[in-house]
Amino acid sequence: MGIDVWLPRNSEDESEDVSDVQPGPAADGMDWETLREAVSGCTLCGLAASRSNTVFGVGNPDADWLIVGEAPGAEEDRRGEPFVGRAGKLLDEMLRAIGQRREDVFIANILKCRPPNNRDPKADEAAACRPYLQRQIELIKPRIILAVGRIAAQNLLASDDPVGRMRGRAHELGGIPLVVTYHPAYLLRSPSQKNKAWQDLCLATRLAAEYSA
Ligand code: URA
Repeated sequence: MGIDVWLPRNSEDESEDVSDVQPGPAADGMDWETLREAVSGCTLCGLAASRSNTVFGVGNPDADWLIVGEAPGAEEDRRGEPFVGRAGKLLDEMLRAIGQRREDVFIANILKCRPPNNRDPKADEAAACRPYLQRQIELIKPRIILAVGRIAAQNLLASDDPVGRMRGRAHELGGIPLVVTYHPAYLLRSPSQKNKAWQDLCLATRLAAEYSA
């Protein structure tokens, strides 16, 4: 479906060595359960050594909405589920505001494993993990992808732009409409930006309704 145009974002740290990136897993053609097993046994990057659990994603594999965040945090790593902390509660509220429940959508991250101390994902980690999310997108066939936060947006759109420049308009990934909005953790710190997030959710709702595959 043409989503293999998804390129690695430019690293903010030019000195970062991506030459030892492991070849991506052969996620091509995997069904959902095989993909889940491949993720749970993945050792493609160094995060495998420090994780407690992989975080495959949660929700409906036939969802219209795919929400993509950054990476598991401590609680997500412990429970094996994305967005279970305070930011997750706010994400649930945001979804409720547009008539969606956590179990209706699918929620995933750029990384399936937690980076130590919640640091930003490295370019090689994102590159190694990308085929898993790419295959999830192919299988789910969402009507809309909502990228929450800078890391998700920059990785999905292969851009270095800040969220403020990417949000508020329609993008696409392999022909699927994509909307960028603020990460719920940022909205907890900056609640005055919630009205912009609301506008983004309304835009995403409209694009999902208009989309025909
Ligand atoms: N933040 C994210 O981006 N993803 C999670 O799963 C949890 C917090």
